[in-house]
Amino acid sequence: MIKELTLYIDGIEVKVPEGVTILEAAKKVSVEIPTLCYYKDLTPTGNCGICVVEVEGVGTLKRACCTPATDKMKIHTNTKQVLDARKTVMELILSNHPNDCLQCYRNQNCELQTMAEKLGVTELPFKRFDRDMPLDDKGFIIRDSNKCILCGRCIQACQNIQTVYAIDFINRGYDTKMSTFMDMPLNDSTCTNCGQCVAVCPVGALYEKSSIDEVWAAINDPTKHVVVQEAPAVRVAIGEEFGMAEGTVSSGRMHTALRRMGFDRVFDTNFTADLTIMEEGTEVIGKVIKALTTGEIGKHLPVITSCSPGWIKFMETFFADLREHISTAKSPQQMFGPLAKTYYAEKEKIDPKNIVSVSIMPCTAKKYEAARPEMNASGYQDVDHVLTTREFAKMIRQSGIDFKNLPEEEADELMGFYTGAATIFGATGGVMEAALRTVWFVLSGKEMDNYDIKLVRGMDGVKEGVVEVPLSEANAKALNMKVLPVKVAVAHGLSNARKLLTKVATQLKEKGASEYHFIEIMACPGGCVGGGGQPYACEYAARARRADGLYKEDKEMVKVRASHNNPMVQKIYKDFLGEPNSHKAHKLLHTKYVDRSDLV
Ligand code: SF4
Ligand code: SF4
Ligand code: SF4
Repeated sequence: MIKELTLYIDGIEVKVPEGVTILEAAKKVSVEIPTLCYYKDLTPTGNCGICVVEVEGVGTLKRACCTPATDKMKIHTNTKQVLDARKTVMELILSNHPNDCLQCYRNQNCELQTMAEKLGVTELPFKRFDRDMPLDDKGFIIRDSNKCILCGRCIQACQNIQTVYAIDFINRGYDTKMSTFMDMPLNDSTCTNCGQCVAVCPVGALYEKSSIDEVWAAINDPTKHVVVQEAPAVRVAIGEEFGMAEGTVSSGRMHTALRRMGFDRVFDTNFTADLTIMEEGTEVIGKVIKALTTGEIGKHLPVITSCSPGWIKFMETFFADLREHISTAKSPQQMFGPLAKTYYAEKEKIDPKNIVSVSIMPCTAKKYEAARPEMNASGYQDVDHVLTTREFAKMIRQSGIDFKNLPEEEADELMGFYTGAATIFGATGGVMEAALRTVWFVLSGKEMDNYDIKLVRGMDGVKEGVVEVPLSEANAKALNMKVLPVKVAVAHGLSNARKLLTKVATQLKEKGASEYHFIEIMACPGGCVGGGGQPYACEYAARARRADGLYKEDKEMVKVRASHNNPMVQKIYKDFLGEPNSHKAHKLLHTKYVDRSDLV
């Protein structure tokens, strides 16, 4: 049984279970202890030293984030000694920190800036010693070591949450910095571009390469026709940048803002999320049937989802032998790209060379995905510019748009109409649930009585279960069974993906087959709602609230909650693609993967 402790913080009695830190205990009685390195979902390290407190009977100040509370402890969080110590730590941090807030990516959204103000640091008593470390800007995540305060959050995210181990502290003393193996550019390392390090960095030491200037230039160029798509998870997070609650559904406001900013066509990635389900669902059904009719289970199954580009690079690096098991269907972003420059260009009679295709994504890895050399099925670069949710918010502010009070508008219909199945793509388990709704319909010939497949929802790291799919008469005859038990698994966050994939790889090697038919993997904890390009301060609880927003939008779509019922998806197959997995669909909407195991 866990023991209950009683302690006193600034004279206030607080009862907590054994194992809780002083910082957590203080929170319970609304005493805020300032920190720079502490982040709720990461293991506390005490690296920054800001959270010091006085403990009666103990000679030295203690770091509240990593000191366990003990019974009868008497703690003081705001004595002169404590406040002076915090101020000195901050002054030391600032003594080698660049003074260029106005030009900094994090200006006005920086934990260091806020903390310096909070601690009353207005001038520096110490001599400045500026560092002059080179900027690592080769890839899509930029590393400015001069701004790094060595808090270690990024390393925890990369090593513990993602198990990628692309970064660590290197060197010693004054030369200590966060870097990669052999101090190589992040872009040349095992980094997956997931951006989870960026999401937790308190300062402007890690940020995405911006495309804002290029997008404004395209919008302002009268010879260009600029189309835009927005990912499912953007709509439930963008409002946070304008003071709205996490999970507020802003689809309509988002479309209105984009029109007012000057985009020529406002479409929606949710349309191609529905299309992804048609392509991927057809592939899954084909492989299940092949596996069951040939008996070569391990050759065809499991099929693993492919829409998370951070996950794809992780797989290509650490599990390259599983490439044959990854669905060849491109991600919704990369399905939209070639269709904008073929299908839409044809419909509107626009020369595709004049179309600029922009996407707004919750994800830093989407910038990397759009730039992969094979992503040019249209004959042009399929997606020209990728903006994160944060960049989108900056552009809204630059436009002087009052986002919160905007009227709601629909996306342009041709590539903007979507179903509830598409919108839940942004949450962990959403792609699986969306696919199962359509797989069920195709195999049974009937709609599901209840579209909600709860076993794949929620924040558990790995979710699994069996969905019993009733078979139509023809399918029952072909497969010699009445009900097909589909064993599914869902993992989010790359450490969970690693656990699941290690199990699958071992089963395939030792038994020749895995227990799973269909697996969904998303690189970021919570799925795209927790992507590395989303608004900051995105703790797991906030990610879950964003996911709730997506399920709410799905539920409200009453009649159109399955991708096969999207009339614009039916139209594109009729007018342009033929049928799911057709030759043309394969050419435009499917891809292949490379072996990057030499990076390890
Ligand atoms: S990281 Fe923060 S404190 Fe440092 S320059 Fe940027 S905004 Fe200013
Ligand atoms: S982007 Fe992801 S993989 Fe790359 S360093 Fe950051 S946390 Fe690690
Ligand atoms: S890069 Fe950011 S998160 Fe990483 S150690 Fe430096 S300040 Fe902390």
